[in-house]
Amino acid sequence: MDEIRRAPVASSSECLICGALDDLTVEHIVPQTLWNRFGIDPDREDLARFRTALCYPHNKATSVLHERTEMMELIETGDPVTRKTLLHLGDWAVWVTLLLGLARGTGVLGTDASRTMLFRRFDTDQAGTPKGVRVYAARVTEYVEPAEPHVPSYALALRGDSRVLLDQAGKPCGFSVREGPINASESIGLGKVVLLVVGETYSSGPDHLIRLDQAAARVGLQRILPLSNSLPALKPTTISMTAVSKLFTVVPLGADLSLMPRAIQELASP
Ligand SMILES: [Zn+2]
Repeated sequence: MDEIRRAPVASSSECLICGALDDLTVEHIVPQTLWNRFGIDPDREDLARFRTALCYPHNKATSVLHERTEMMELIETGDPVTRKTLLHLGDWAVWVTLLLGLARGTGVLGTDASRTMLFRRFDTDQAGTPKGVRVYAARVTEYVEPAEPHVPSYALALRGDSRVLLDQAGKPCGFSVREGPINASESIGLGKVVLLVVGETYSSGPDHLIRLDQAAARVGLQRILPLSNSLPALKPTTISMTAVSKLFTVVPLGADLSLMPRAIQELASP
């Protein structure tokens, strides 16, 4: 288990999850053991964005996430791919990207929703992975430039994003264009694994989820959450992180609208 240190974190002075001001510790959101395995000093200055402040109880609670030996092997070496390691990896990806997003003020959910979810995860027994979130993964042989000259970008209407306007029945009926802190997805490449976490979306019609998976496949990713009965092969492949990070957006301008709710698509077409 990672050693829990009581050193100050430069940019924050309260626990990221509960706001406690005392008894703060450095949380290595990406665990120190992983950096160490890659021969990287986890306290390096340029890795500060992977660290945050947590109170001692929350540091202890989150450290349990990283105590999954076979999953860490998978991240480091690309093996083993089993039902257990993929379930662990999908769950890990959700919480790690939620912590990273909250620490940076971005993320697939707003600050309040992120905090509420983390609080439930680490303070109660209601520890399930959040409903509707999808995680895509690949095993990487090499990081490359995008395969297509125009990197595909699909706009998504995210549940919980106040830019998506709802009618009285709660169905998406419009969209307000403005800047916001919410991202459609969070991507991370670590060791031999690339992960893309996508927030819960409003449906664009029949086969919405299948078409989401097909979009992810365009950049080399397969779904690991929710996990299918037949395990994805995750055949090792080259990956462009540029393409992965641009695949899904909440800003419809210039993006492919086929994964947006019909009402919003119709508003956008002349
Ligand atoms: Zn706390």
